[in-house]
Amino acid sequence: MPVLHKYKARNEYYILTQLNGAIVTYQITPDGCIFLEEQGVAEGSQFGRSLLLQLCRSGDAYTRASAPDLDLSGWIQTSLDFSDDPVPETSMPVCACCGSPYGLHLVSVNEEGKEPFLSIRCADCCVSRRLEHSICIPAPVLSRPFLKRLIGLSGVNALDESASSYAGLLEKNFMEQLYKRKTTRKHVQDSLFGESHREGQGSLL
Ligand SMILES: [Zn+2]
Repeated sequence: MPVLHKYKARNEYYILTQLNGAIVTYQITPDGCIFLEEQGVAEGSQFGRSLLLQLCRSGDAYTRASAPDLDLSGWIQTSLDFSDDPVPETSMPVCACCGSPYGLHLVSVNEEGKEPFLSIRCADCCVSRRLEHSICIPAPVLSRPFLKRLIGLSGVNALDESASSYAGLLEKNFMEQLYKRKTTRKHVQDSLFGESHREGQGSLL
């Protein structure tokens, strides 16, 4: 399971987890920290992969272009991920070419003799295969509306499995935000109507 950690030298947090047998570091935004705090996750504690995936969907957890320079020698990998986590490792976004989770980008791939298609590539593959790519956008800035607009503007409608999975994450995040907005609006309306109702009652007495 992922674990929340704090950088020693600065007031920022990061997440360690295990992917494909390696320890992977995710950076986390201040909003992401607030979200984890609301979920009862404290520094040093483990949490379900579903929460990490939720942070990735919203762009609040992301990887840098390469593994940061952290001393991970004290960590036993098996302590990071329990096999009974209901969300499998394969749910986490990775590069379609090499499987790396670092520095993910959405790219438009133009291979000779093939229709262009969208794919998710890591920072290293973005550089090494740059001649194949005509669009290259950091994945954490993507949203459902952005992706739909990009598809419309670029005319590239085909998505490989990695891009389809990422589009699925964005779709889920969009629906979660929509539900949250509706719930908040209903809560505000309920409290407003409740107050006016009580005020109305008071004026009649
Ligand atoms: Zn790669």
